Amino acid sequence: MEPSVERFQGRCAYCGLPPRPGEVLEQDHVVPLSRGGAHSEENILPACDTCNVRKSDRLIVEWRFGKRIARRHHKTTSPRLRSKTS
Ligand SMILES: [Zn+2]
Repeated sequence: MEPSVERFQGRCAYCGLPPRPGEVLEQDHVVPLSRGGAHSEENILPACDTCNVRKSDRLIVEWRFGKRIARRHHKTTSPRLRSKTS
């Protein structure tokens, strides 16, 4: 199992639910690669199909997700990247 999945005990980082039978958690990029995100462990969170589809390639701050993650994201987001999204 991937380290990032283990960090969340095999649950989706967004809704906190384990995958349904037959479903596999996707490795979701917090900052999508298409938006300049890195393919690194701290930029990857486990996401279930539902959340992955819902989030698509939006940034978490553009989505409505958890404050804890949003704050962490805020800290590591460069001004260049943020202005790009507005
Ligand atoms: Zn989910």
